[in-house]
Amino acid sequence: MPQHDVKQQQEATTHDIVLVPGDGIGPEVTAAARRVVDAAGVAVHWIDGPAGLEAVRVAGTPLPEATVEAIRRARVALKGPTATPFGGSYRIVFESGGRDGTPRSYPSVTVALRKELGLFVNVRPVRSYPGIASRYQGVDLVIFRENSEDLYLGIERMRDADTAEATKIITRGATERVARFAIDYMQRTGRRRVSIIHKSNILKLTDGLFLEAAQAVLSQAPGIEVSQRVVDAACMDLVMNPEACDCLLLPNLYGDIVSDLAAGLVGGLGVAPGANIGSDCAMFEAVHGTAPDIAGRGAANPTAMILSAVMMLRYIGEADAAYRIDAALSAVLADKACVTPDLGGTAGTRGMADSIVARLQARA
Ligand code: NAD
Repeated sequence: MPQHDVKQQQEATTHDIVLVPGDGIGPEVTAAARRVVDAAGVAVHWIDGPAGLEAVRVAGTPLPEATVEAIRRARVALKGPTATPFGGSYRIVFESGGRDGTPRSYPSVTVALRKELGLFVNVRPVRSYPGIASRYQGVDLVIFRENSEDLYLGIERMRDADTAEATKIITRGATERVARFAIDYMQRTGRRRVSIIHKSNILKLTDGLFLEAAQAVLSQAPGIEVSQRVVDAACMDLVMNPEACDCLLLPNLYGDIVSDLAAGLVGGLGVAPGANIGSDCAMFEAVHGTAPDIAGRGAANPTAMILSAVMMLRYIGEADAAYRIDAALSAVLADKACVTPDLGGTAGTRGMADSIVARLQARA
C-alpha cells in the first residue's frame, strides 16, 4: 500500500484529524463536511485548529504555531479557506523552530502551512458530475501542482519607489519529487497520459528546468505517455476540448491559475476539491477561497469541501466510507432538488448536507 496514500492499515482506528474552519464560508463548509464524515460512521477525533481571522482574535496571529504542531502530530488536516489581504505588507512569520534557526516568513496562511508541513504537491481532480449544469460533460482530469516553490515563495522587493521585483525559484529536486508523485498516483489510479505545462519559450531557465527535470523523470515511467505544452496553449486546449485531458503537471503559479480555470469547466469553484500531500502529512482543502460575497448566508456549496474530505478518507484508509459519501453526494447532485444557488438550486449549505446525510443513512 503506497505510503502517501494510506496513513496506516486500519484496525477499527479512531483517526485524529485537525479541523481548520478558516474564514468566510470556511466554517460553514467545513461543518458540513464534518457532519457527512461523522454520518458515514468513520471514527474521528476532531481537533480544533484555529487559523485566519478567528485565530488573530483568539491568539493574536493568523497562524498559531500550535495549529501547525497539532497537524504535524495528527498528520492529517481538513482545512477551510483562509483570507489573505491583497497587497500591503501582510506576512506570516515564525520566529523559532526553523532548521537553521532563522525566522521564516510566508505570504499567506495556506502557503505557510504547505511549507511548514512539507506538503510538496497539490492534487486537484476535476470531474464532471451528472446534474451539474456546465458547458462540458465527461471531463475527468487531475492537476498536479508543485506546491513548494516558484513565485509562491513570495520573495519580492521594491528596487526603487517605482519598480517592484519578484523572484521565481525552480529547483530540479522539487520538480523531480512532484513528477515522481505524479507517476505513483497515475499508476495507482490507472491514468496513462500526462502533459507538462510550462512557459519555457520565455522563461528559459526556470520553466526550462521544470520541463527538463519533469521530462527526465516521467519518461522513465513504463506505460505513461508524456507530452508538454506551453501554458497559454494549454489553457486554450482546456477550454476547447477538456474531455481529452488526462493529467497535467504544473509549477506552482500556473497550477493555481489553471485549477480555477478547470473548475469553471465542470460547474465552478463550489465543486473543486484538493489535497496537499507531503511525505509525513496531508492537508485537504477545496480550491475555492473564503467567498466573502456569500459568507455568513449559509448559501455556500459544500461539495468541494466534502469531496476534499472524500480524498482525505481515501488517504487515511477509509475507502469504503469515501465511496459511500461520493455516491450519496453524486445522487444529491444528480437529483438537483437540494443543491445550493451556484448549482441552480435554492438549498442552503446545511440543507444540502442534510440531504447527503439522509442518502448515506438510507443506504446504510
Ligand atoms: P473565492 O474562491 O473566495 O471566490 C470566487 C467566487 O467563487 C466568488 O464569487 C464566490 O462566491 C464563489 N465561490 C467560491 N467558493 C464557493 C462555494 N463553495 N460555493 C459557492 N460559491 C463559491 O476567491 P476570491 O474572492 O478571489 O478570494 C477571497 C479570499 O479567499 C481572499 O482573501 C483569498 O486570499 C482567499 N483564498 C484562500 C484560499 C485558501 O485558503 N486555500 C484559496 C483561494 C483564495
